[in-house]
Amino acid sequence: MSRTVLVVGAGIAGLSTARALGRHGLECRVVERRRHRSPAGLGLNLPGNAVAALATLGAADDVRAAGVPVTRREYRTAGGRLMFALDEALFWSGTAGSICARHQVVLDALTAGVSVDHAVAVASLEQQADGSVEVRFADGSEDRVDFVVAADGVHSTVRSALAPAAPRPSLMTAASWRFITADPGVDCWTAWTSRGRTFLLIPVAPGEVYAYASSSQGGDTAADPTWLADAYADFPEPVTRAIAQALAAPAPPYHAPVEEVRIPTWHHGRVTLVGDAAHATGPVWAQGAAMAMEDAIVLADVLAGTEDWSTVGPVWEQVRRPRVEHVQAATDQMSRLAGLPPWLSHPLAPVMGPRAYRAAYRPLRTPPPSATPTP
Ligand SMILES: Cc1cc2nc3c(=O)[nH]c(=O)nc-3n(C[C@H](O)[C@H](O)[C@H](O)COP(=O)(O)OP(=O)(O)OC[C@H]3O[C@@H](n4cnc5c(N)ncnc54)[C@H](O)[C@@H]3O)c2cc1C
Repeated sequence: MSRTVLVVGAGIAGLSTARALGRHGLECRVVERRRHRSPAGLGLNLPGNAVAALATLGAADDVRAAGVPVTRREYRTAGGRLMFALDEALFWSGTAGSICARHQVVLDALTAGVSVDHAVAVASLEQQADGSVEVRFADGSEDRVDFVVAADGVHSTVRSALAPAAPRPSLMTAASWRFITADPGVDCWTAWTSRGRTFLLIPVAPGEVYAYASSSQGGDTAADPTWLADAYADFPEPVTRAIAQALAAPAPPYHAPVEEVRIPTWHHGRVTLVGDAAHATGPVWAQGAAMAMEDAIVLADVLAGTEDWSTVGPVWEQVRRPRVEHVQAATDQMSRLAGLPPWLSHPLAPVMGPRAYRAAYRPLRTPPPSATPTP
């Protein structure tokens, strides 16, 4: 019997779902409200479990070829003093290792072989008594499907239709700036923090770095780009040079809110929320892409292994929730630590920082339950 799956959204979660279903010979229709694939010019830090998920989805080689391995992290004060460093290559040894790559590289790698219906937006949906789901699109057309995977991001239309829950600002920061620029002189993942501000540079491609700047005490990050120059004026040269380059570039740096979704259930009948739609989390541990891909892999495993799709949502959520909640808890913990005043946080950092890193990532070195590759 052929059953129909609708995937809403062609971001990392939606594309991963289509690929993961394909590993089991299951087809789906992917709809994306954007008319074209928009060039995603920002970077993604992909810790080892994200790269492992990419490998499971058959998409790691392209990302590895275009990105840069993350082998060392340095945490510095705004004056440039090294508080502590972490051997990321050693920590993730025995796994796929960590990479930083352009977001677009990841989307391209996941898109290969996946067909996406662009300019198709889901407007609403309704569960039917026979178990199917009736979906209404923004152009007024309708469809009836056997299962819906809502991968439609932090402002999910599907989530709003089923159980409205507004995203909230992340504990760490309400907004952030991001851009890619010529390498101003860093050779590894480097973060500078002070007085409620964080600036991060990560090599993302040969000769280029990905920059992330935000408040770190729950404060706002002003939407005027001159904020960048003012807020980091007394930070070391790689930071000020990166900002000067970004402000002089034809394309302005990218400002966006940093929002979180914490909701009590990720499934409603035969509709399941995945990725940011279910559990967008501040990028403290860079787990957004990893959790989205793992969600997809596990969901496809469950769909492929179950005749009665009305049971898929609860089974899938039971497997996924502990791992995602671990990331959420680690995110909150680090956000609180970063929110301490420098006179307290900087002396604590050499001990607390490596400890928090290991506590956050150690459980993630193990593959998620039921995500074993299809032979
Ligand atoms: C400041 C910041 C920095 C980050 N840094 C990192 C990082 O370094 N590493 C990392 O792993 N993660 C990072 N993340 C998180 C990461 O980008 C996301 O978790 C990840 O991209 C998963 O996204 P998604 O596919 O769930 O949602 P999205 O990427 O938002 O995709 C949702 C898609 O659904 C489409 N859509 C929406 N509504 C509809 C509709 N009604 N009908 C049809 N289509 C629809 C949208 O157009 C979009 O294409 C960061 C996030 C932020 C905010």
